[in-house]
Amino acid sequence: LVEAVNVIKHFGSNEVLKGVDLTVDKGEVVCLLGPSGSGKTTFLRLINQMETLTGGRIWVGGELIGFEERKGRLHVRHDSDIARQRSRVGMVFQRFNLFPHMTALENITEAPIRVKKIARSQAKAEALALLEKVGLSDRASYYPAQLSGGQQQRVAIARALAMKPELMLFDEPTSALDPELVGEVLKVMKELATEGTTMIVVTHEMGFAREAADRVVFMDAGVVVEEGAPDQVLLHPRHERTKLFLTRVK
Ligand code: ATP
Repeated sequence: LVEAVNVIKHFGSNEVLKGVDLTVDKGEVVCLLGPSGSGKTTFLRLINQMETLTGGRIWVGGELIGFEERKGRLHVRHDSDIARQRSRVGMVFQRFNLFPHMTALENITEAPIRVKKIARSQAKAEALALLEKVGLSDRASYYPAQLSGGQQQRVAIARALAMKPELMLFDEPTSALDPELVGEVLKVMKELATEGTTMIVVTHEMGFAREAADRVVFMDAGVVVEEGAPDQVLLHPRHERTKLFLTRVK
């Protein structure tokens, strides 16, 4: 579903990604680990086209993102094309990023109604089903400020799912939460993983990676250092950099 080949990203003279290759199959859950500044967030933002590539290519669902190939040459895609591609990818951020002036329900129905032109009644019915899925049926009419961080993050997950994305990206979704609220968010994510949702998850939650990931990818300084089954990478890392990172986060 995702194929990234030799992905390079520079911010000025800062070479953040130095040639990242990563393939994610449909239904796969991939956890991306690595020290702060290793380029994990930037990589997710490239997949979702919140940044543009310096080099390399990324395909999502067989389609080259950001560019299209015509007569053997690459052309930047039209905005409408980029918007369509983006709507196939859901993203959940570290900070919950809900619209503060909208209720939980309105946050979830906004994009389906505005972007996908879905009838209000249908969008509402689907949003209520999603709220039930994330355990918040009784919070539909609450505003973000009236919800705990964990509840807000579950609404944010429901909001991303409302667009029926083919791929879900999670960028440290629990790292801004109080410890006692982390579990409820991870529980929802584990359920999504079990249901076969294709997910790329940047996280420092090793328990989640071990339980839910099909594959763990360790990044450092803009490259993939190693990847493999969770137990292999987390319990028997091959590289010194991975070992060092794991001793620090445990
Ligand atoms: P963290 O766990 O801290 O989020 P990360 O592995 O996700 O780390 P990134 O957020 O991708 O790392 O950042 C990698 C590097 O890119 C950092 O040095 C950061 O300062 C730089 N960077 C990220 N976004 C920008 C930007 N918009 N402009 C300039 N530099 C940026």
